[in-house]
Amino acid sequence: MRYLANRAWPVILIGVLGVAAAILYPKWRDASNRGGQTYAEPFRIAGNFYYVGASDTAAFLLTGPQGHVLIDGGLPGTPPLIMQSIAELGFKIGDVKVLLNSHAHFDHAGGLAELQKASGAQLWISDGDADIVAAGNGNASDPFLGPLRFLTYLTILKYPAPRIDHRFKDGATIRLGPIALTAHITPGHTPGCTSWSFPVRDGDRELLVVHACSLDPPTGLSFGSSVGADLGVGRYAEIRAGLERSFRVLRSLPADIWVTSHARQFGRYRKFLERTEAKNPVDPFVDRAGYLAYIDNAEAEYRELIGSR
Ligand SMILES: [Zn+2]
Repeated sequence: MRYLANRAWPVILIGVLGVAAAILYPKWRDASNRGGQTYAEPFRIAGNFYYVGASDTAAFLLTGPQGHVLIDGGLPGTPPLIMQSIAELGFKIGDVKVLLNSHAHFDHAGGLAELQKASGAQLWISDGDADIVAAGNGNASDPFLGPLRFLTYLTILKYPAPRIDHRFKDGATIRLGPIALTAHITPGHTPGCTSWSFPVRDGDRELLVVHACSLDPPTGLSFGSSVGADLGVGRYAEIRAGLERSFRVLRSLPADIWVTSHARQFGRYRKFLERTEAKNPVDPFVDRAGYLAYIDNAEAEYRELIGSR
């Protein structure tokens, strides 16, 4: 009897650990799919333009009489947060007819497939990022990963691939009823990184919104020029030329309101709080100086990076 009990302990222990793992694994997977993102209260930024993203990975809704446009899908785990936010504002996910994306990375394209399934919307992706999104492998385009490239094929870095309905080039205009967004390809961060510009009406003024794509160089560019050069001189030069052009293109846009795909960068929370004190709740978001400072800072960091080689 005693002998049997001693033999039973490891079995019981394994059983308990197995049950614990079965309970905890889905929680861990959900948490990593959300990448630490939490709920953020959705709100109107200006006119028909709303914030519906999570605490940092952003998503935006542009509403119209013939349907809505949704920009970015967040991580694979954030669509429930985005859909909850859309519903809280009184809109229906089924009225989203157009899905757009800033760039192909996991944290902005990861939720597109689920949002597309829930809405039936048509997805538009730039020529430069389309193959990456179609493969559901957002970091595979990084030319500087070198031997670390195998990491991009691990399932945790991949995301459910959405159906791409339309591909477009620089300067394309996407329309849905009275809504019109212009695509500015601002490459560097990804080959087809897309900045969007569109007007919104706020009372009797028309404001130009610019959704600026990320300006950070791809991961490996910071490893130094020798590594960059070793791993592909052509791509290295191409990415540098792309980024330099992107700084110029963004500076040339007469943005009144600016946002980015990471909410921290454009000061979502600070501006959200400032709305309560402001005479017009739109005013904290009218921030051309902040827009130019964002581009200046990104360019200064980039110059430091390439100057140090
Ligand atoms: Zn990115």
